[in-house]
Amino acid sequence: MKKGIAILGSTGSIGTQALEVIANFGDNFRVEVLTACNNVQLLIEQAILFKPNAVVIANKVKYPELSEALKNYPIKVFAGTAAIEQIVQMETIDLVLAAMVGFSGLVPTLEAVRAGKAIALANKETLVVAGELITSLARERKVSILPVDSEHSAIFQCLVGEPDAVEKIYLTASGGPFRGKQRGYLSKATRKEALRHPNWSMGPKITIDSATLMNKGLEVIEARWLFNLHPEQIEVVIHPQSILHSVVQFMDGSMKAQMGLPDMKLPILYAFSFPERIKSDFPRFSFKDYPNLSFEPPDFANFPNLFLAYQAMKKGGTVPCVMNASNEIAVDAFLKERIGFYDISSIIERTMERIPFIEKPGLADYQFADKEARIYAKNLLSSLKDEG
Ligand code: MG
Repeated sequence: MKKGIAILGSTGSIGTQALEVIANFGDNFRVEVLTACNNVQLLIEQAILFKPNAVVIANKVKYPELSEALKNYPIKVFAGTAAIEQIVQMETIDLVLAAMVGFSGLVPTLEAVRAGKAIALANKETLVVAGELITSLARERKVSILPVDSEHSAIFQCLVGEPDAVEKIYLTASGGPFRGKQRGYLSKATRKEALRHPNWSMGPKITIDSATLMNKGLEVIEARWLFNLHPEQIEVVIHPQSILHSVVQFMDGSMKAQMGLPDMKLPILYAFSFPERIKSDFPRFSFKDYPNLSFEPPDFANFPNLFLAYQAMKKGGTVPCVMNASNEIAVDAFLKERIGFYDISSIIERTMERIPFIEKPGLADYQFADKEARIYAKNLLSSLKDEG
């Protein structure tokens, strides 16, 4: 039987690659639902091609355009974030791919878990913000959370059959476009340079996060919740070739790594087909093309975001949520060329210090902390502009 898949964020980088996977493996999967934030044109094209049961556009202003374009198709059309939160509960959905960007992925993912749907999780911010809430609900509902992040897919694959013998994990990081660069260079780094990732083709937000190493910081916190680890059990290692996708060290000292070419379609296909593997004709890795695989420690001094993420993870409570919110604001401002590279860390650090701490937050506390952090970070942006 074909697995019915809902793709939240179908017009983004992961969403479009997921649709490529589904197009390639049409005997295994069918598209049930597509949702997008703003990109109504692409959503229309995708809907006509994949004929889902329903589509949702988050931005209500775009609803008339969407419903007009699809009026001759048997596709239900909805608009608004509340519709996304409801539609994930649809009975014909077997698996929800959470591929929205940032905090907006939290509530729909939570609703999908509550409805007992398997989750393929690409939206790491969801676990960063509310990892404890999501994973405890998933355990209660016996829902699997299947990572789509390449590093976490690697760890997940290494743990199949022996999930409880972990001593520590090593998350690999390419180091991004600024690996080896020093403070003098980085303080003048531009948006254009930051968007030039050496190995992975991704959306703009995550590409900037890769340049600042915040992406790895978010992934450290994501790993903590996905694999139920203590902060001390998670280490980052820079591996510029992005071939070893991450490593598990077991309690006897033995290590397992998962390797492959850097192609997000691999972790997407694995999450969609788990616990099976499906034969693919994706390009194969060749040792001849990679005579040297190298490793080095991360540079916490020149990339303070990674340090801030470890701090947020250790403090717990609402701190990772606050860190994430201020990062989203700062990255957006960097993308609009309003602030410099190190302003991102400084905005995050100052917001983390300022927003009141809640140790055992519920959903409403996270939503409040997120909102407060965004307001505070935006105020910092205007004061930075005044100083500059
Ligand atoms: Mg990753």
